[in-house]
Amino acid sequence: MSAPLVDVRNLVKHYPGERAWLGLGRPRRVVRAVDGVSFAITPGQTLGLVGESGCGKSTVGRTILRLQEPTAGQVVIDGREVFTLGARELRALRRRMQIVFQDPYSSLNPRMTVRQTLREPLAIHRLAAGAGADAKVAALLEEVGLDSRLARSYPHELSGGQRQRVGIARALSVEPAFLVCDEPVSALDVSVQAQVLNLLMDLQQQRRLTYLFIAHDLAVVKHIAEQVAVMYLGKIVELAPAAELYLAPRHPYTRSLLSAVPVPDPAAQKQRIVLTGDVPSPASPPPGCPFHPRCPHPKKNQRCRTEVPALRAVVPGQLAACHFAEEPM
Ligand code: ADP
Ligand code: MG
Repeated sequence: MSAPLVDVRNLVKHYPGERAWLGLGRPRRVVRAVDGVSFAITPGQTLGLVGESGCGKSTVGRTILRLQEPTAGQVVIDGREVFTLGARELRALRRRMQIVFQDPYSSLNPRMTVRQTLREPLAIHRLAAGAGADAKVAALLEEVGLDSRLARSYPHELSGGQRQRVGIARALSVEPAFLVCDEPVSALDVSVQAQVLNLLMDLQQQRRLTYLFIAHDLAVVKHIAEQVAVMYLGKIVELAPAAELYLAPRHPYTRSLLSAVPVPDPAAQKQRIVLTGDVPSPASPPPGCPFHPRCPHPKKNQRCRTEVPALRAVVPGQLAACHFAEEPM
């Protein structure tokens, strides 16, 4: 196996909490958005990072690219330690790692044409200028399946799918090796989602890209990810090759998420597990297993309320953070 392109060790990101009204003098409640996350991604492969809204996925994506400063942890991308780089080295590494955002409308400058949007990173990184830059813009548009005449358009003149293709072209313009795709299809019409997913998969093949692909539901990453990590309240609760995770999930949270995915074959219909209760706040996570207040596992007991389960190999290659990961549900 080749060395990972992306190696994340014990990543922590805490935000200072809001001071409550009339709470003067009381300590702020720290928001533990990311609380000790580790994973590695093999070159050319995709890790799917999945979990409900607010569990810390975007914070992981932004922090490993150092768009936000970490609280603790270590990240190595392309052989370089991201958190210790100086400004100049970080700028050089920025070319190698890019992000595609969920909402291409708010991530594109409304006053810039597609051509200007795509020329900007080329100028910043001194990759092309003048006619060379325009040729590059045309090639990028073709690569993401857009008519080169759209170069003169503004974001509001484009459809959601076209805007996301521009966002992808912008990320690709500097020839990165690693892309964080932060829910890149969540804001798109269902009919367009598959097209954009297919485009991302084709681009990965052609350019041998490595992806961290963030989604809030397991169905989206099923066909794109070799490995899947499931997050809950700032922690990875299950990490496994996609084939194993979808066939035999080990964490009760993964099992509940999967039971909510519609199954086309009625004979294979699983029993649905309905999660009750809301996700607790990352400013006051429950003691013990963070999932225990909502956990439907029949073996759930006092230990779950007091002892934090370690993320451990349940079977070789499949990690889960549950005291009862071996027990059927
Ligand atoms: P996700 O992408 O999984 O929806 P986020 O990473 O955006 O989750 O957020 C994780 C947690 O951190 C949430 O509770 C969110 O409210 C909090 N959070 C995110 N960004 C900030 C910020 N800049 N300041 C304070 N809290 C934040
Ligand atoms: Mg997010």
